[in-house]
Amino acid sequence: MRSLPGARPLGGGIDLLDAMKWGEPVAHLIELRRVAGLSAIRINAGALLIGAAATHAAIAGDPLIAEHLPDLARLWGRIASPRIRFSGTLGGNLMAGRPHYDGLPALMALQAKALVGGDPSWHPVEEAVRFKGALLIAVRIDRVRRRRLLVGRELHPAVAVYLGISDDDAMRVAVGGAHQVVRCAEVGPGDPAEAAAALAARMPATLDDGGASAAWRTRMIGVLAEGLLRRQAAAA
Ligand SMILES: Cc1cc2nc3c(=O)[nH]c(=O)nc-3n(C[C@H](O)[C@H](O)[C@H](O)COP(=O)(O)OP(=O)(O)OC[C@H]3O[C@@H](n4cnc5c(N)ncnc54)[C@H](O)[C@@H]3O)c2cc1C
Repeated sequence: MRSLPGARPLGGGIDLLDAMKWGEPVAHLIELRRVAGLSAIRINAGALLIGAAATHAAIAGDPLIAEHLPDLARLWGRIASPRIRFSGTLGGNLMAGRPHYDGLPALMALQAKALVGGDPSWHPVEEAVRFKGALLIAVRIDRVRRRRLLVGRELHPAVAVYLGISDDDAMRVAVGGAHQVVRCAEVGPGDPAEAAAALAARMPATLDDGGASAAWRTRMIGVLAEGLLRRQAAAA
């Protein structure tokens, strides 16, 4: 990529080829799915590592993910349609920058980290996706066996809520589709209705567009979060 000015990484090409049809200037395409190792999914020292070029179908059907974090496999099996899942990749999903895509909020709720080319440090996934022109290499979820992910996406793509629970019972809620960028907040223990109402009130102003009104989105963040917090309280 460094040696080819204007080169863009190509995952499944769903978003990028569409943008090119509408005039997005791209000098060269680097097809990531042909780069050895970039689609690997493995467990290392209790952490799940997913290569950026892994397709949604590979994530949904991977036996290691099914064993260590079945909630993630279930969600990935619900992304879009089979045709999209067989070509769309994790990296493309995250780097497309669409706030209603499931990848970023789900991984933010799980406190995932990401590795980008030319930088040896792992960064919180929400930071890594903002690095301009970066090549996303892999995503890592630490202590993966001890995490859970509950998802309220009945109203997707207008609004969806993702609740990540870690081994110390800390809870993080990420909200997709409701703002220009994915929003995330910690949620304390206590009454689910009160915690959800407080979360919705803490969120910045939601989008008001053809998909839904801002007032409805804000209200639905509370409704969806309360449902997830109740499920978690019942399971605890
Ligand atoms: C009809 C339809 C329904 C959909 N429904 C859903 C849904 O329900 N949930 C959901 O989450 N998503 C959904 N999607 C999005 C889909 O899942 C894909 O993830 C998405 O379209 C992009 O994936 P891609 O691999 O094709 O990306 P590409 O088009 O290849 O790339 C997208 C962007 O990311 C860049 N890029 C790709 N890989 C990397 C990398 N490793 N590092 C840096 N930059 C990179 C490209 O240069 C480009 O700018 C839907 C898409 C369609 C068309």
